[in-house]
Formats: sequence, structure tokens, C-alpha cells
Amino acid sequence: MAAYKMWIGGKWIDAVSGKTYPVYNPANGLEIAQLSLGGKEEVDKAVEAARKAFPVWSKKSQAERSQVAMKIANILRENAKELGMIDTIDHGTPVKTATAIVAGKAVNFEWAAYNSRSLMGHTVPQNPNELAYLQHEPIGVCALITPWNFPLSMILVKLAPALTLGNTCIIKPPSIDSMAALKLAELLEKLEMPAGTVNVITGPGGTVGEALAAHRGVDMVSFTGSCETGKQIMSLASRTVKRLHLELGGKNPVIILDDADVTAAANQMAARQFSNSGQICACPGRFYIHEKVYDEFVEKFVTATSKLVVGDPMDEKTDLGPLVSAEHRDRVEGYIKSGLDEGAQIILGGKRPAAAAMNRGSYVVPTIFTNVTQQMKIAREEIFGPVAVFMEKFNSDDKVIEMANDSTFGLCSYIWTKDMARGMRFANEIAAGTVWLSNALTLAPELPWTGYKESGIGEENSLYGLLEYTNLKRIHVDLTKPK
Ligand code: NDP
Repeated sequence: MAAYKMWIGGKWIDAVSGKTYPVYNPANGLEIAQLSLGGKEEVDKAVEAARKAFPVWSKKSQAERSQVAMKIANILRENAKELGMIDTIDHGTPVKTATAIVAGKAVNFEWAAYNSRSLMGHTVPQNPNELAYLQHEPIGVCALITPWNFPLSMILVKLAPALTLGNTCIIKPPSIDSMAALKLAELLEKLEMPAGTVNVITGPGGTVGEALAAHRGVDMVSFTGSCETGKQIMSLASRTVKRLHLELGGKNPVIILDDADVTAAANQMAARQFSNSGQICACPGRFYIHEKVYDEFVEKFVTATSKLVVGDPMDEKTDLGPLVSAEHRDRVEGYIKSGLDEGAQIILGGKRPAAAAMNRGSYVVPTIFTNVTQQMKIAREEIFGPVAVFMEKFNSDDKVIEMANDSTFGLCSYIWTKDMARGMRFANEIAAGTVWLSNALTLAPELPWTGYKESGIGEENSLYGLLEYTNLKRIHVDLTKPK
């Protein structure tokens, strides 16, 4: 069985305790590796190494650091197949998409490399004998704590800006899906960065994650994950008033208006709903469908969903692989039971696949609920699985906006209409960081990703996202001659 060490201070090390823990392939439940069980002592070591590296890395010219970022982009493209295969084996990402997902993040490093070179400060007009100017400086040691839904990509979107701008980084990957992060460290080892510039600690969030969030030597925590964990991190980080960047959950409303292109809406929303087996923060969370197009939309959505292939993620034909773990499958099945108990109806799926070959994997087939009401648990909480939730039909624009906004989340929303003026009214009134108007386009490094309400704090990607990893300093100079 493969055993993996941690990458700390430029060395591959075992946990001081000598303990390891197993990780499993969710497609068949078999153990694939033993990882080092990091803890507080490893966090102390990594923080010490990252603090030592910071003055060296941050004082390199931006041009030098940007060159390193460009090399990382090349490394990602050259190794995308191998890195993607790791996500397939330990997460269940279908091979059909795994390579492209990793290669796609090369652009984040290129984008950070170019744009950090033109991150200009400003001068602020003062009296003729005064000069006041602003400059962006790296923050220091950044802890990057990431979820399992895209095990490597979620790290890369944070590492690209943090590292390129001169911060040193401690990556705490999801404990059940850490192998791609360790492979990344192995690939970065050859680059010219001081030891300790990038560190990877494996181990549970309850120890490694909490120790990083509370540590006096960590200047910033950039976290993507659940709202509950985000709140715990906020509380721990408050002890030393750390910079925080939080990308949290969503329960995203999809509104199909009576003048929508129903065919496009059904096809694109079914693809988005079940992509990565529904384990995406941007997946639809609640569908509000106008009564005039309800039957047509449901029929077309069911048809599109029925074409999706659930199966072995190693098979090129597979659209939906397993859920990330048996525990997560049980959690998703708990939501399915709760929907039925509360009176919603299942019109498709709701069970595990029939094929005996899939018995050992953590599969759930695409599932569609109808007649869901606003107070049901499946309408309020994030399911993070292949479960579409169709609310009762609506017939009033004002009412549906009110219902869409009746949520503690505010991550993103999808509005389908052919009338752009009507659509823009919805876009203005929906409380969410992103509104897709009659489309389901993807993310881009130049576009910010951000959450309203409990969906997060701060922006990922874009110039706003770059600035998240900097401190802004004002320098005020007296230009009068010394008397
Ligand atoms: P979790 O919040 O459970 O875990 C995320 C990371 O935090 C993991 O590395 C985890 O470690 C760690 N962690 C767990 N507990 C603590 C703690 N007490 N202190 C510090 N760190 C801790 O999220 P999931 O991995 O389950 O991911 C799913 C969630 O992520 C969903 O809610 C989803 O919406 C959200 N998400 C949001 C995105 C966005 O852009 N807004 C994008 C992608 C996902 P360990 O693995 O050991 O538990």
C-alpha cells in the first residue's frame, strides 16, 4: 500500500506521532493509500518554515515570482492527465472531465503572473510639498484550507494569487482527498522557491485546520468549504484578528420564467445540476418554475437527466461517478428520506444504481423531487449531491423573488427569460454574488466569485481576488527641505 509523507519546510516528513490514516476509492470502497496523520506539531513546523521563507520569497521581484507562476502553469498542463487521474481515483471525478479540470487551472497561474506585474499603487493628491502613495504588499503566511469537491482545483485557485504575490503558503487539503496536493508539492519541488514557500499538511480539519486558523504565526486563512466550518474558522481566527477569505455554501435558486427558452434551460440546468454528481457549490439548489411552462420544463429536464450515464469514473462514457465517500452518500440519502418524510414526491431516481458492479461504490442515481415547499429541509439546506429540488409552481414575479431571497445563503442564481429587461430586474433584486441570465457559463480567472450573506466573505479570482492576498499600505512623505 502506498504511504505518503507531508511536504514541510522543503522536506518530506512523517507525522511526529508516526500515525497514518487510510483513504479509499469511492468507486469501489477499496483502500488506496495511507497518509500521514498531521497535527499541531506539524502545523508549528510548517508555520516556522513558511515564516522563514517569507522575507526571501516576498523580496524577490514581481517579475521573478511571475516567472515561477508561468512555470507552474506549464507543469499543470504537462501533468494534467496524471493529476486528473488522482482526482478520479480518490474523489471519483469522471476521467471524461478530470484532465481538463486540472489543465484549466493553468490559466489561473498565467493570469496571476500577468496581472500581479501591473498591480499599480496610486498617488493621492496632497499639498505640493507632500507625497502620499499607496502600495500593495504580500500579507505573510497564508493557510489555504480546501474542500474535497474539486480536490486539486480548489487549492490552485487560491495558490495562484497567494504565491504569485509573494505570500508563503500552507496547504491543508481535504483529509480524504489529499493525494493530488501531495503530487503537486512533488512537482513544485524542482522550482526555485525558498524551502517552506509551499507546504502541505495532511490530517483532519478538527486538528490541522483548527491549529492553522488559531495560530499566531498565520496571517491569513483562505478557506473554501461549508458554512459551519467557515464559522468555526472565523471564531478561531478572531483570536489574532487574521485576514479571512471565505468561500462557503449555497442553496442557489433557479427561476424559469414563462417566456424562457425551456429547451435550453432544461438541458443546461440538468447538466449543471448533476455535474460532479451535484457536488458543486454552484449547482442549482431550488427550482422555481412558472406555472405556464412547468409541465414542459419538467418533462424536458427529466429527458435530459435520463440520458446521463452513472458509472465507473474510469469509463470515458461516465457522466456521474460516485459520491466522494460512503459517509457523504449516507448524508445525501438522509436528505432524500427527509424530503419524502416531509411530503415531497420523487419523480426520478431516489436510490442507488441497480447494477451489482456498483454495489461497493458510493453511488446515488440522479434524483428529482417535486412539490417541495419553502420550509422543507431539502429546500433550505445544501444537499451537495445529485438531487434536484423542484418547488411548487409560481405565477408572480414579486412573490418568486421574495421566495428566492428567503435563504441564509446568497452564492449564485440562474434566471431564464427571453426578456432581458425583465431578467435584469431579477438580476438586480436577487441577493447573490453571481446571476446567470439565461445561461450557465463557467468561471474565469478574470471574473470574481463571491457570496452574499452566509455564502462567504471576499472574492476569489479577478483583480478583486488578487487584492485579497495583499495588504494596502499608505506612505506619506514630507517633501520640504530639512530645516
Ligand atoms: P468542510 O467545511 O467540511 O471542509 C473543508 C475543509 O475544512 C477541509 O479541508 C476540512 O478538513 C477542513 N475543516 C473541517 N473542519 C475544520 C475546522 N474545525 N477547522 C478548520 N478546518 C476544518 O467542507 P467539505 O469538504 O465538506 O466541502 C463541501 C462544502 O464546501 C460545501 O458546503 C460547499 O458548498 C462548499 N464549497 C464552496 C465553494 C465556494 O466557492 N463557495 C466551492 C466548493 C465547495 P477535513 O477534510 O479533514 O474535514
